[in-house]
Order: sequence, then structure tokens, then C-alpha cells
Amino acid sequence: MKQKFFAAFVAFCAAGTNLSVAVAQDKMPVIATFSILGDLVKNVGGHRIEVGTLVGSNADAHVYAPTPADAKRVGAAKVVFINGLGFEGWITRLVKASGTKALTITVSKGIKTRKMEDDHGHGPAATDPHAWQSVSNAKTYVATIRDGLIAADPAGKSTYEANASAYLAKLDALEAEVQAVIGKIPPDRRRIITSHDAFGYFGAAYGIEFIAPTGVSTEAAVSARDVAKIIAQIRRQKIPAVFMENVTDPRMMEQIAKESGAKIGGRLFSDALSDEKGPASSYIEMMRNNIHQLATALTS
Ligand code: ZN
Repeated sequence: MKQKFFAAFVAFCAAGTNLSVAVAQDKMPVIATFSILGDLVKNVGGHRIEVGTLVGSNADAHVYAPTPADAKRVGAAKVVFINGLGFEGWITRLVKASGTKALTITVSKGIKTRKMEDDHGHGPAATDPHAWQSVSNAKTYVATIRDGLIAADPAGKSTYEANASAYLAKLDALEAEVQAVIGKIPPDRRRIITSHDAFGYFGAAYGIEFIAPTGVSTEAAVSARDVAKIIAQIRRQKIPAVFMENVTDPRMMEQIAKESGAKIGGRLFSDALSDEKGPASSYIEMMRNNIHQLATALTS
């Protein structure tokens, strides 16, 4: 009796396993180069696709070094979504090395681009690749993602269209929220110093001035001498808040705050999402986190 039950249980498990394998195989394998793009693709593709992300949460796509495993995943993909604008300097070689037959879609196509304030590692006056920092651009990305998925999987057309329009409605609501939160900050206080020149599209769209620290490298860790320069600049330009991710020494941040009178902002997410438990686990949560960090530092 006991044995019979066990046999039935094994058969049930096996059937269950086969079923889940069949479902996984039905999903179209898709690759997105970085976490923010992966989230947008997931929202449009829904249950019809399996999204893999090359550069994961909290990781830097600018300096990413692809692995042989990445080449394998790209090789197996039906669609590869790329930001473009020079953001993923390594992607062309990776796509070639993978021998993939995937449809390659550049989601920034059709975006009105801007130039970087500083080189940000891209070379002088390079095109700013961080277009997703404006919600309006993210909506263009979503439309391009939808059309790319339909081209690769025409049978899913109605699903992709429905998912995209539902998600675009959420992005409309997000954009209204961004404008409302930023709108409450007095115009003369809408300026911050940031070590991260990744918010040019955000600043242009919503009216916040992101000022780079002058004479300080944005790549390397900030030295005590740099701190003195930053304090002088904050006083000179009357900047209400500072978001400096590469000042890792809390005593330096305290010194900046104390001597300049500027507030120290929290963490802004620019090029990658946080992990799932973090404050920026999706594109929408990332934008919400950033506007609330800005509002907290710039109001009062
Ligand atoms: Zn960047």
C-alpha cells in the first residue's frame, strides 16, 4: 500500500516536472543588456518571454566585462535588447562572438539625444547614453520593445500590445508623480552637486540642475583636497544639496555638510536597479526613490 502511494507520488512529480519544462521551453528567450532595460522588457513581454539580464543589479554596464556564459545566453536568445548610444561598449563584440541569430533591437532609436557635461569615461562631448532617466524617453523604449517582440514573435502581438499599453499607462502616472514631487521644490533650490553625470535627461525633463564638482575626478575616490574644492564650490554657487557616491568616507561627507551648509542626499540610482529588497527594484521604484531623495534634500 505504502509502495503504491510512493509510485503514484513519483509519477505525479515527474508529470509536474515535464509540465514546467514544457512551459519554460514555450517562453521566448530574450536578453537585455542591463537591469533597468530588463525590467522594461519584462513588463512588455509578460509570461510569453524569459528575460535574461547581462549586467545585473547594482553593477556598472560602462565597465562590464562579458563572460563566456554571457556569449552562450546571447547565442540562445531570440531577441537581444540594447540601450545603444555607446552605453554598452562591449556589446558588438559579444553579439559577434556569440554567433547569435537573434533580432538585435536598439531601444534608444528615435530618442532626441544630448551631450554629456563631462566625459564620464566616454570621451569628450560624447552622446549621453542615460536616456531612460526621462520617463518620456522610457515610453519610447517601451514602444520599441513592443514592436521588437512582435517582430520576433508575431503570435504574441495582442499580448505585447495589451502589456505595453497597460505599462505605458503606469509610466504616464509615474511621470505625473515626478512632475508633482519636483514641482513642490522651490525653483531656486533645484540644484545639486553630484559625482555621477548620469542625470542630464532627468534634469532637462524635470528642471533640476545637476552640477559636477569642478576640478575633481568623478571616477576615483575623492581626496581630502577634493573635499576642500567641493566645499568652496558649494558656497560659491549656493548649492543646497550634495549627492556624492564616490565619497566613501563618512567623515568627509560630514565635513562637506558642516562647512558648506549643504544637505547630504541619499542614494540616487542611475545605471542599474537595486536588488529585489532594495529601494529601486524596478524602473518605477527607481524613479520614485530618486525623486523622493531629491525632494528630501532640497525642500525645507
Ligand atoms: Zn553611466
